[in-house]
Formats: sequence, structure tokens, C-alpha cells
Amino acid sequence: MARLTARVAASGPNNYKMVEVFTGDAVGELPQSTPADVTEAYAKSRAAQKEWASWPVARRVGVFKRFHELVLTNHELIADLIQIGTGKNRRMAFEESCDVPFTVSYYLKAAPKLLAPIKRGGPVPFFSSSTEVRKPKGVIAVIAPWNFPFAIALSDSTPALLAGNGVVLKPDNKTALCTLYGVELLEQAGLPEGLFQVVTGEGPDIGPTMIELADYVMFTGSSATGRTIGEQAGRNLIGCSLELGGKNPLIVLDDVNLDELLPGIIFSVFANAGQACMHIERIYVQDGVYDEFQRRFVAAAKELKIGATYDFEPQMGSLCSVEHLNRVLAHIDDAVGKGAKVLTGGKARPDVGPAFLEPTVLTDVTSDMVHATQETFGPVVSLYRFSSEAEAIELANDTHYGLNASVWSGDLGRAGRVAARLEAGNININDGFAASYAAKASPSGGIKASGVGARHGEAGLLKYTHPVNVAVLKKQLLGARPNVPYASHLKQTLLTLRVMRRLGR
Ligand code: NAD
Repeated sequence: MARLTARVAASGPNNYKMVEVFTGDAVGELPQSTPADVTEAYAKSRAAQKEWASWPVARRVGVFKRFHELVLTNHELIADLIQIGTGKNRRMAFEESCDVPFTVSYYLKAAPKLLAPIKRGGPVPFFSSSTEVRKPKGVIAVIAPWNFPFAIALSDSTPALLAGNGVVLKPDNKTALCTLYGVELLEQAGLPEGLFQVVTGEGPDIGPTMIELADYVMFTGSSATGRTIGEQAGRNLIGCSLELGGKNPLIVLDDVNLDELLPGIIFSVFANAGQACMHIERIYVQDGVYDEFQRRFVAAAKELKIGATYDFEPQMGSLCSVEHLNRVLAHIDDAVGKGAKVLTGGKARPDVGPAFLEPTVLTDVTSDMVHATQETFGPVVSLYRFSSEAEAIELANDTHYGLNASVWSGDLGRAGRVAARLEAGNININDGFAASYAAKASPSGGIKASGVGARHGEAGLLKYTHPVNVAVLKKQLLGARPNVPYASHLKQTLLTLRVMRRLGR
């Protein structure tokens, strides 16, 4: 523990008291960074980055190959640390740890291609050339939330580092241990010391200094904080990628095979105790199947085993903190106070642990209720009935968020036609969210209030680079030649432009 917390660049007077979520027991103290510590962290990362950027890409890739293996070898300890800080169940902790090797694997292969210079044509065919060169931006601020503290912090830092940047990372205080262990593994794999700095503290205390000194910001968190970060990045004329909240809809069409698909729909809602940005909070079910769906969905939610253990028995774990539990309970109370019906759940379970909540299914939710429009971020879902596909599409799109949407049907063509009209950055057919999130070659991001930019895929690496255009003129053929009247030059230029169009240049 002390070995991990010693990695934090921090000299603040007060430590943060970390707890084991399952019990509320103290597990250790996390030093807190001051703005001066953040400044020093940037200076150290910047100094190390110069040499790191000079390494051939293949050498950087070698570090991440070793890191990949270290994550797999140490998956038990990683899952323990994730569970201590988040209270999630073992299955989700293990699957969270797998996100990092998934991402690393994709970039091990993709990075050398994406970072190689690309020869482009120049303005004068045969006599000029242009080469697109990718340069690292410098030092990247990575700000991570508590819900997937290992996966998001490490997976977002991977392409930043492979592109030749340094990183200054701020994890959430509650869940910093697993992140710090991931950084330790990276250094064991050969990442140069100093390149990857970790700072800690409350966002408003150190966030402004982090963004002030960054060359690019990779932020994951709520839409409210994302706006603050985006404003500061904009003022500083640096880029940012903002991965924000959602109020994700799921549409069940009346030809769905519930025997086959119901477990997947349950997982879409209750995985990670509903604390996943892409999890489902609204389910729209077509008339013909509504009654059967409600009966079977509620029965399955009721049967979910919750528990505070470090084995694979519990199907759902705790919420991340008592404070967050109270926020989620306030959404349920508001809905019930305004006429919503609780079909199952709705109650805290202090007998299991201080931040546990029952899987909760609501109906009769109306637009004046907080849960109808705002992200609840817990194991709470509302069911709605619809008759036509057009109605379902309108209801699903009626939100200021646009992170994820899901359609379930026995007919993939029909599901595809509905999906094509949904407004979200990720669309999943016959899956809730894992299929799109685990497809690391495709960019994943939110639209509307769910974000700016994307992670994964080519975009997820190239955003951490400056494109530099290196042009060569082999003969002085640009502009009018001496002693040639401009009118002749003009004619020649028009002819050249026509030829270039024909050649498709
Ligand atoms: P949050 O916005 O409160 O905090 C996220 C991180 O930002 C934390 O590390 C926090 O300390 C820091 N922070 C807060 N204020 C800051 C400031 N002014 N400057 C700099 N940093 C600041 O979000 P949260 O409650 O930790 O996480 C849950 C939210 O994250 C949910 O809305 C969820 O949907 C979203 N999320 C989105 C994605 C995605 O990929 N789109 C993934 C996971 C979580």
C-alpha cells in the first residue's frame, strides 16, 4: 500500500482516507497534491518525454507488449484493488482488468502504422511532395472517474504514451490504488521513470493547474465537469476529448426471443451496479411483448444475487460510496413521490454493506421526475410501453444525451433500420454496451451532451498527435516564372488545374 501511494506527486497537508467499500473500513491514506506538486509533476514528465519521443515506435511498443503480459499475470491483485475501491462484484472487476489488454493489443498493431509518415502528393505533380508526419503533443492530462478506475486511466493513457507523449494522470481519490498499481506495472515493463506522473486531489483544487499546463486533455466524467474542462481547454487553445454521461435507451421489438436475450438485457442494466456510462436506464418495450417482458424482467432482477465478497458468487456488487447511494436513492424517492411504481427493489441494503442498493425496476415514470431525464448512475431502470417503431425512436432520442442506444429483435435487418435512426455515438444491436465498447478498432464517443471526440480506433491515438505537413518543391515551378507575362501563367495554371482534376489530385 505505502509503495503504491508513494508514487503520488503530493506534499499537501491532509491525506485522503481511503475505505474498503464493502465494509466502510479504513484501508489507508492517500497523499494529496497541491497545485505546486502538479507543476512539478508536469516538469518531470516533460523532461522524460523528450527522450521517450526520440525512441523508435517499435521500442515503445516493446514496453506495452511486456505491460500486456504483466496485466494478465497479475489479474487477481488488480481485481482485488478494483473491488476494494469501487465495491463492484468480482466478474466486473475481472472484466474491467481485461479492457486494458484489449486496448493495448489493438494499439500494439495499429500504432506503428498510424505513426508512420505518409507520403502525399504536392501541389505540382512530379515536382513536389508533401509528407504527413505525426508528432506527439507533449504532456497529456488524463482525468479519470471512479467507476472504471483501472480501465479508463490505463486504456486512455496507452495511446497517449505510444504516440510519444508524457502523461499526468488524476484518478479519483476513492479508487486510486488500482490505478497506481497499473502505473507500477507499466514501469516494470520498461516505461521510463518520471514519464507517467500521478497527482491526486479534488478536481476543483488541482484540475485548473492540470489543464493550464497540459498540451491536451483526456477527460472522462460527468457532463457538468466536462463543460468546465472544455471551457478552460478552449481558452488555452488546446484540444480535449470529453467522454461524458448518458441516459441510454434500450428498445425491445415485439419479435424478440426473450429466452435467448433476457440475460443480456439484465446485464445491460445492472452490470457494475448500473455505474457504467453506457449502461441502460430506459427500456422501451413494444406492446405485443410488453406484459411478458415486464413479468420476466422483474423476476430476473429480483433474483440477482447481491453480495460483498471477493469471489464470483455475487451477480451485483455495491455502489461506490454511501454518498453516491444517497444520490441514487434521492432519484428513486423523487420518482415514487411523483407517482412512479416500484416493481422490484428500491431499498438500500445496509445488511449487506453500507452502500448496497437492490436492483430496482420502475414503471409509470413521467417527464417531471428527475430519473426520467437525468443520469441516475445506479441499478435503476424504468420500463415504458410503445406501439410503433417510429414512436420508440422518438422516445429514445428525446434526451440531451447521446452516448449509447440499444435495439433488441429477432430480425437483425429490422433492428438495423431502427438503429440507423437513433442519436447516439454507440449503437448496440442485441447487446447493451459491451459489444461496441470492446470493439477497439472503432472509435467510441458520445454526441450531444455526452461528449466531444472519441477513444479507441485511429482517432483514439491520432488525437494525441500534431499532424505536421513537410513539403518539398523539387523545381521552382510554383508561381509565374521570371520574364513570363502573368496572363500566360494564368492560362497555364487553369490548364494544370483541369489536368489535376482529371488525374484526381
Ligand atoms: P466527475 O465529473 O464528478 O469526476 C470525474 C473526474 O474529474 C474525477 O477524477 C474528479 O475528481 C475530476 N474533477 C471534478 N471536477 C474537476 C475539475 N473542475 N477539474 C478537473 N477535474 C475535475 O464524474 P464521476 O462522478 O467521477 O464519474 C461518473 C460520471 O462519469 C458519470 O456521469 C458517467 O456517465 C461518466 N463516465 C463517462 C464515461 C464515458 O466514456 N463517456 C465513462 C465513465 C464514466
